Amino acid sequence: MTQQAVARAVWCASAWLGAEGVRDAVRVEVDADGYVVGVLQGVSARDGDVVLDGVVFPAAANAHSHAFHRALRGRTHDTVDGGTFWTWRETMYRAANALTPALYEELATAAYAEMVTAGWTSVAEFHYVHHRPDGTPYGQGPDDGADGDRDGDRDGPHAMELALARAAVRAGIRLTLLDTCYLAGGFGAPLEAGQRRFSDGTAERWLARLASLRAAVGALHPAHQVTVGAALHSVRAVPEDQLAVIAAQLPPGLPLHVHLSEQPAENEDCLRATGCTPTGLLHRHGLVTGRLSAVHATHVVGEDIATLADARAVVVLCPTTEADLADGIGPAGEFRSAGATLALGSDQHAVVDPWLEMRALEHGERLRTGRRGHFDPQELHRIAAAGGATAQGRPGAGFGPGCVADLMAVDPRSTRTAGSAPEQLAYTATGQDVTAVVVGGVLLARGGVHARLGDPGPLLAAAIARLDGASSPAADRTASPRQGARP
Ligand SMILES: [Zn+2]
Repeated sequence: MTQQAVARAVWCASAWLGAEGVRDAVRVEVDADGYVVGVLQGVSARDGDVVLDGVVFPAAANAHSHAFHRALRGRTHDTVDGGTFWTWRETMYRAANALTPALYEELATAAYAEMVTAGWTSVAEFHYVHHRPDGTPYGQGPDDGADGDRDGDRDGPHAMELALARAAVRAGIRLTLLDTCYLAGGFGAPLEAGQRRFSDGTAERWLARLASLRAAVGALHPAHQVTVGAALHSVRAVPEDQLAVIAAQLPPGLPLHVHLSEQPAENEDCLRATGCTPTGLLHRHGLVTGRLSAVHATHVVGEDIATLADARAVVVLCPTTEADLADGIGPAGEFRSAGATLALGSDQHAVVDPWLEMRALEHGERLRTGRRGHFDPQELHRIAAAGGATAQGRPGAGFGPGCVADLMAVDPRSTRTAGSAPEQLAYTATGQDVTAVVVGGVLLARGGVHARLGDPGPLLAAAIARLDGASSPAADRTASPRQGARP
């Protein structure tokens, strides 16, 4: 085996090495591209090493994100009727329609900085806010500011996508930008006004823009930093004849994600319109394959589970979001038993904390089955790190050769973790206990503070305040005159 040159190293007071358990004084040698090339145990740190105290784990890979949903945290819980998934969605559309490339970049930068400090070092961004609020692509016509956006034409038709890529680069998080096809407002239903900017009109136009985006991103960013994948918003949003076009023309090798059976209403509508479950409909068109990541998969039947697992698809669970939106508890245990790869996502970012997602996965199974002990800590870490990386088509984080050296250190003596066995920290730690985060062997956060961007809190507050200013009723009239004022 060729010995790659060691460019840098991370020394860990203790490190969790998976099946080997926790070992002390572990030195992780990293090459210039950020991959692990060697792991030494029982050695001292050398000059220049990044030194991590506490217990070091592979960092987590976030398999499902909508960065701008971070602006909704703590604002959607109606105190009168409690709200539903569908009333939450109305609030989300108001935020979506206020976004400009500059506001999107600012908010995503802050959201990604929050992710990094909590221990997520890569993210699959499920992105569908492509065009101006009235559906006109960026880069067309004079940029006269009439739509409230004076910066959108700088990057031409990919203004929103390149804004996300810049946000990820600034935050140092690895980005898999899932450019999302969104064509309809439901089965046989046209787009609603609030959905116009999501749509390219047809699958062929979406495929053409996807190809152009891949070229644009590839010219600007190395693949270890930003790659482009694909997504179908849902079977609600992509008519069946368009699914067939996508199945025939989507380039091989690209990750493909889809929101699947998050709500019972989607299943009922799909059955009525097509005679199939959402999984069955995708399978009918050959779209359930090893590159597919099915997000949520909460309301699936046994045949759906077998179809997804047999195809070696990834099932992306978002337990804190599914709890917040009252989606239900998906059959994670059945998926695991059937052989599906599991991954975790923070989705709407009511919680940005891989430790709480891991715990919510296990707790959901306990609540659903009345038994403890479904996912042991080793499996939870594997789901959070390797599972999320698989969903993104990326190498996983960890200590083995070929892994990326993305690591998070946890304080085993905090208020929450004191007394915990190091192997059981998955059941006690939170993102607040993450004392340091390393990406590709380079220190990127310490004590909840981002090395380049500082404390994410003020960044988030500023970005959300600016978005609020743009989405006020007065701003709305200026921002999108063709849609009129919203309440
Ligand atoms: Zn989602």
